[in-house]
Amino acid sequence: MKINIEERKNIAKTYDPKQVEDRLYAEWTAKGYFHAEIDCRKKPFTIVIPPPNITGRLHMGHALDNTLQDILIRWRRMQGYGTLWLPGTDHASIATEARIVEAMAEEGLTKDMIGREEFLKRAWEWKRVYGGRIIEQLKKLGCSCDWERERFTMDEGLSRAVKEVFIRLYRKGLIYRGERIINWCPKCRTSISDAEVEHEEKEGNFWHIKYPVKNGDGYVVVATTRPETMLGDTAVAVHPEDERYKDLVGKTVVLPLMDREIPVVADEYVDKEFGTGAVKITPAHDPNDFEVGLRHGLPQIKVMNDEAQMNENAGRYKGLDRHEARRRIVEDLEKLGLLLKTEPHVHSVGTCYRCGTVIEPAISEQWFVRMKPLAEPAIEVVRNGAIKFIPERFARIYLNWMENIQDWCISRQLWWGHRIPAYYCGECGFIAVEHEKPDSCPKCGSRNIEQDPDTLDTWFSSALWPFSTLGWPEETPDLKYFYPTDVLVTAYDIIFFWVARMIFSGMEHMGREPFKYVFIHGIIRDSLGRKMSKSLGNGIDPLEVIEQYGTDALRFSLTIGNSPGNDLRMSYEKVEAGRNFANKIWNASRFVLMNFDDKPDFSRINPDKFTDADRWILSRINTLAAEVTDNLEKFELGMALQKIYEFIWEEFCDWYVEMVKPRLYDRDSEGRTEAQYVLNYVLGTAMKLLHPFMPFITEEIYRHLVNDGESIMVSEWPEFREEFCFPEAEKRMMLVMEAIRSIRNVRAEMNVPPSRKARAVIVAEDEEDRMTLQNSRNLFERLAWASEVLLKPDREGIPANAATAVIPGAEIYMPLEELIDLGKEIERLEKEKAELEKELERVGGKLGNPSFVAKAPAKVVEEERNKQVKYREMYEKVLERLDGLRSLRSSKGAGK
Ligand SMILES: [Zn+2]
Ligand SMILES: [Zn+2]
Repeated sequence: MKINIEERKNIAKTYDPKQVEDRLYAEWTAKGYFHAEIDCRKKPFTIVIPPPNITGRLHMGHALDNTLQDILIRWRRMQGYGTLWLPGTDHASIATEARIVEAMAEEGLTKDMIGREEFLKRAWEWKRVYGGRIIEQLKKLGCSCDWERERFTMDEGLSRAVKEVFIRLYRKGLIYRGERIINWCPKCRTSISDAEVEHEEKEGNFWHIKYPVKNGDGYVVVATTRPETMLGDTAVAVHPEDERYKDLVGKTVVLPLMDREIPVVADEYVDKEFGTGAVKITPAHDPNDFEVGLRHGLPQIKVMNDEAQMNENAGRYKGLDRHEARRRIVEDLEKLGLLLKTEPHVHSVGTCYRCGTVIEPAISEQWFVRMKPLAEPAIEVVRNGAIKFIPERFARIYLNWMENIQDWCISRQLWWGHRIPAYYCGECGFIAVEHEKPDSCPKCGSRNIEQDPDTLDTWFSSALWPFSTLGWPEETPDLKYFYPTDVLVTAYDIIFFWVARMIFSGMEHMGREPFKYVFIHGIIRDSLGRKMSKSLGNGIDPLEVIEQYGTDALRFSLTIGNSPGNDLRMSYEKVEAGRNFANKIWNASRFVLMNFDDKPDFSRINPDKFTDADRWILSRINTLAAEVTDNLEKFELGMALQKIYEFIWEEFCDWYVEMVKPRLYDRDSEGRTEAQYVLNYVLGTAMKLLHPFMPFITEEIYRHLVNDGESIMVSEWPEFREEFCFPEAEKRMMLVMEAIRSIRNVRAEMNVPPSRKARAVIVAEDEEDRMTLQNSRNLFERLAWASEVLLKPDREGIPANAATAVIPGAEIYMPLEELIDLGKEIERLEKEKAELEKELERVGGKLGNPSFVAKAPAKVVEEERNKQVKYREMYEKVLERLDGLRSLRSSKGAGK
């Protein structure tokens, strides 16, 4: 794979990612560089990928998440760790099942028509065809995953782990089956967990309804935001210490519309201060009412079916959709004179995170994980710092969630997923929880046994991902070597879904934390800070970006300016900046290579021939290596890239390459080989530091440079080298560069073209500084267009009319008449003056016209006023400058 000497100078004129990226990726794969071997001499470094859904197509969020992981992985690999990045995909039960159902609908088929077995055949076929798509897209992104270890949440090994966990938790009493209020999505037709419910502020009403007290004793008024649930009311509750209702407790009220008699109960759950202090109790449709119902032995009446239509318990409203039922019920109450008032009310409404449908809390028999005992060690391990969140503030969010955790509803009324390993006896009702279906009931011997039809929440299997992928429950060598993993990289939006569940699962089943760091990044927004969405049409497709600008440019744009935990603004400008950077690197590298000897021999370089410029750049990249390493250790990836970018662009390309040109152009110059050596070394080191961020261009350049390795991927990460630490040379070069920069600034301010050379008189009191500047005269001539440089210890004899620049330790004077042509400059300024006078007159006329000021839009008047201020300022400056130049001309004239 190494290129030979002839090829070195034939490096392409321009950088074309298309000619490079796929070729290099294929070579890396063929060489096995991504594959991790267990090597006890090396410290392991492991990341498990957040498995993308098989329904997924690479979006910017994935691109960001995986770029960050690849940076960490490539860096640690170069540092010599036993590095594993374990990839895989998630079966994504709800999302995938929805796709299959959609596809079937086009053929006029439903799940019930084809049955479970046929449905699963279709799902697996779908997975076979589309499941690998996102993996191929991750490869386009340059991800250096160990593809030999790719896993899938429903592959054989992981499915065994899922069953094992279910059985163990069931036997410990940590998984139970019970009736609870769950979040029901009528569209997805399944229960979903609390974490999957999104809360939105919605405008609604508080309906105040009169419930007549039996035997004509007046009314009790309750308020509700969901009147349709009243059909399932089984009580009215008041606070036991509420004086207003003392006499009412124990009495009976008549449920309007249903004419059902229900009791008034006293319960401390009721808030005396809220509303009327009396609340309706609907145990089958509200989690709090459910608890009240249990305390008072109230019946549970479900009034809706799975599609959120009113059912047979809803009397005359049976068959109506819940929204229509609400409308009719309110109407009927009004007719009966039982609606006291309707009060507009903004309240939080739970919606399904997948489809956005309003969730219907409903009673249901489901499987649950008992969370409190599992949460304890998961809280402790974050409190004691064994797991650290980056940035730290997310630990508080995590802890707050875990400390208030509710039991986790894990059963889903779906077919695609891990089927619950519970078997029910049709005779005696015994539940057997086993790996395989028992032949007969262990209790009564009956052969009438059915498996639970439900599947497990997708997150049940992804919670096991850090150890199930390494072979658990077997004690595999992989598990021993690579677990616990090192870093989990993820966006903040799945801390509860996934991160929290991996932590308690790791603690419960492995007895150890699943990872040491949780590196949280933000979500991608557009340049205006809005979320990227289909409806706004502001999304950027990473695959299109790769096609157009190359992967390195995309990765650059996702990393630069990125700080842990914060959202990232993405724009084509950033991608273009990445592409421009790649081009800058390419052009500088090409220049370096073109100026190498045919057979450069660096074994005989003489460090004594290093110039200050050589020592400065060697010292600078030395410092850069140390700083970048430090930034990476702290997960400051954006800052690390910013430093590398500035070093390559400014210090290396704009300064050093310019400084060494004369030594390269002159074949006989002293220290020519040394210059080539330094160029090769610094460029090579810079490419290594940049490699994790922009893997392709760095590899391509590295191979053209003189080096011993065959790939930058397996080269050594640059370390700080004592012998390349030159603080004195750095200080001297800083002075020279500062002086050159200030001369350039003066010239730019005065619009002096490079063709016009001017003397520079530099006054520096310190003798050493004078020596330094004196020794760099050739740099001033080439980089600051100085015709001549004079060094002086004091100001004696410096030109009177000179442009001046002051830098720490020195003052620089450039005779004005050498910088500009007085006559021409005065002429130009006079023209400018006349134009400004005309403009001022125009604006003044407009603003002096009362009808304009009165009639024009305020914004237009404001603009004119701003213009006036600006023109006045410019006018003053022109006058001042003209005065200065005129007096200069007359003093010169007088001197003659
Ligand atoms: Zn839904
Ligand atoms: Zn039985």
